[in-house]
Amino acid sequence: MNGIDYKSKLDEAILQSDVVKIFDNLLTVAVEAGASDIHIEPLENYCRIRIRIDGILEELVQYPKNIHESIISKFKIESGQMRPDEKRVPQDARVSSVTLTNKEIDLRANTLPSVWWECLVMRIVDKSKKIPKLEELGIEGSNKNIIFRHLKYPNGIILMTWPTGSGKTTTLYACLDYVNKTEVNIITYEDPVENKMPGLNQAQIRSDIGFTFANGLRGGLRQDPDIMMVGEIRDRETLDMAMESAMTGHLVFSTVHTNSSAETITRVYNLWAQPYMLVGTFNLVMAERLVRRVCDHCKIQTSVKDDPQYIYARESFRNFDKEALKKEILSRGISQQQRNDFVNNALIYVGSGKDPIMGDKCAVCGGSWYKGRVGLFEMMDYTDELKTLLLEGKSAFEVESVALQRGMINLERDGIFKIIKGMTTLDEVYRYVKAKFSKE
Ligand SMILES: [Zn+2]
Repeated sequence: MNGIDYKSKLDEAILQSDVVKIFDNLLTVAVEAGASDIHIEPLENYCRIRIRIDGILEELVQYPKNIHESIISKFKIESGQMRPDEKRVPQDARVSSVTLTNKEIDLRANTLPSVWWECLVMRIVDKSKKIPKLEELGIEGSNKNIIFRHLKYPNGIILMTWPTGSGKTTTLYACLDYVNKTEVNIITYEDPVENKMPGLNQAQIRSDIGFTFANGLRGGLRQDPDIMMVGEIRDRETLDMAMESAMTGHLVFSTVHTNSSAETITRVYNLWAQPYMLVGTFNLVMAERLVRRVCDHCKIQTSVKDDPQYIYARESFRNFDKEALKKEILSRGISQQQRNDFVNNALIYVGSGKDPIMGDKCAVCGGSWYKGRVGLFEMMDYTDELKTLLLEGKSAFEVESVALQRGMINLERDGIFKIIKGMTTLDEVYRYVKAKFSKE
């Protein structure tokens, strides 16, 4: 932190009830800690500020209730988009700011009138963060072959499914960065434009004045594009336009709000697309979740023999074609030892929070067991076999089960390979794929 302790400065600002100083230092602390969100919340007897780091909320500071109102009012006034006197309904604002460490950020803020007063939550977009290369995201094994193959196709749709905070924006930008070359024209329709990338023609959607995703795509076809990205498909019109663009020789990237690649098939049908249209345009559907990475500095092996999640994990490979599995293990660089540790001895790596030599709190993860995050990826490659099943009217579930037999890597399988490699834990993986079990 450039030698300056902004957290102490924040504490000091709270003691002085200096709202401007509180905001400046709070933003700086959060951005420097790599937080994605800031929560400013009143409770019954006091207020607190929490920040979300690597997907998990942490309490940063508490402060007395008497300065809460001025904190919220100050933000509302500064944003220029919220009414300070309106305290009964939620309000939204988008503002740009600069931290004390000179980092440009965008904030997407929302207030919520809770029973104790208004809460303010801010999503941070750190514009100084570089777009990682696709190779750095943790896409491994057959998934890696699939994505690189599809990025070379001249037409069709590549769709990403997403729950919020899943990392899809980063992956989408990394894909665009990969295909970004002088000889192709790339147009994007975004809401909001989170990263400005040189070489791309990026447009901000304005649905309030009729510039919607669907209208953007329609007009975009006259901009002589090769590749188009449309922020989100949430209605039939946008889906129709995306399919039409794909059918007329364009590569189209987009996202859809579902939990898995199989669920996406159902979602697309619910938007009135016919199976033949899906088969004719969809190249690849991918899903992603970010899980916490085990701290390399303090990790130790532990037995998970009695953990029910271990049984689930082994079960998920039951129908995996033997040859495909062998190839997958090989291409991920998993050693015989790593495989034995997991399969025969039920051993996995977890953080211990303790320094391996000194025995005191691990300085790398601060005793939290985890450091940073890694993506779990699921890719449904629309092979001829899957397309035939879809045309025969098979359900999304049946199509998925055939794909899994053939060796499709879903979020769960990708997670397990990453557990075997000591990158993450059963708890992390099943926190994201547990939906599957709650149905049972
Ligand atoms: Zn550690």
